[in-house]
Amino acid sequence: MALIEAALSAAVAAARPVLSAAARRAAPLSCCASYSAAASSSSFSCGSGDIEDSPPLPIPTPRGQSLLARFRGRRALAVTDITATEWCEKQMEFVLEHGRPERTQAMKAGSERHAQLEQEVIERVDVTIRSAEEMWAVKFMNFIVGANQLMLEGITRELPVFGVIEGSWMIGVIDELQMPPDGVSLHPILVDTKTRYKPTPPSEAQKRNGRLQLMCYKYLWDNLIGEKFPAENFFSYFDLDPNYLLSDDIKQFIRLLGLDAKTLEDVLKYFKVTCHTLPRSQEQLLLRYELQADHSLLEEYLFSYDASWFKDQIQEVLSFWQGARDAKFVSEEERWKCSFCKFANNCPINASSSRCC
Ligand code: SF4
Repeated sequence: MALIEAALSAAVAAARPVLSAAARRAAPLSCCASYSAAASSSSFSCGSGDIEDSPPLPIPTPRGQSLLARFRGRRALAVTDITATEWCEKQMEFVLEHGRPERTQAMKAGSERHAQLEQEVIERVDVTIRSAEEMWAVKFMNFIVGANQLMLEGITRELPVFGVIEGSWMIGVIDELQMPPDGVSLHPILVDTKTRYKPTPPSEAQKRNGRLQLMCYKYLWDNLIGEKFPAENFFSYFDLDPNYLLSDDIKQFIRLLGLDAKTLEDVLKYFKVTCHTLPRSQEQLLLRYELQADHSLLEEYLFSYDASWFKDQIQEVLSFWQGARDAKFVSEEERWKCSFCKFANNCPINASSSRCC
């Protein structure tokens, strides 16, 4: 499968589409494109140890506005923004205001493992991206490629998903989707692999963070499949021209997949048709924890989607981003997180232990 990796920087950037192993053998239809942008080098990871789809930090607008308006105006919140906020709101605020701390060796090892897993099923191809319209065209194509791969080969990885949750545009990259091996159920299961530096079981806080992440992905996937894509809102929120003429480079990649599209809107039509052919995902979601040193499995954690818990969590996170209240600190029971926090020396929680929560 061919996936496009797009790194949009100012007007021009490099991008890499990807091909699955099968697509490499039989080019046209099995070519799919999955998005993995400059995000991977700038994504922020909290204690859950996950690396994925956070966009590069934008230039903030002046203070006085909500964090959403200041740092994500006309952009989608990344699923990693949601999980980082759930981990510690104050830490998320520090990251937005002061930039991401340097990545640790463990975080780098986690990224490398994800890249390795991705390469088992996907091959990246470079294309040049000149605009936001082309970046989105690539995302749509990468979704189509990944969805085709899932249906034809039973597995895909690094699948981009996007949509509106509780009124806010969000974007994420699903680690892995698998069709059930029993051949009976037609609903894919969403899987996320976390790597751990030490052979210890994950804490409840880490599992909770992983649950929220996978539930975000399930919500976005099921929404793309089951709901009408809000095209008008999409073009207007991201300030995109539906009639934007795609570059020859991108049109050539699209033709490689057996499709013919000239504009962003043409690509969106193919995307919508693809979504309508796909099944909803399973209610069960799977978190896998493996040891970084040898990739041995430490734990598999299967749990059920909980719509009410998920909605509460998203509303809580959004109230922080929308400026309805100040950032919270970690709870007393989760003060251990502070010993792994790069901002601990500047955090008011350390001025007075009573500042918790
Ligand atoms: S020191 Fe603790 S409370 Fe403060 S930002 Fe870091 S994790 Fe959050």
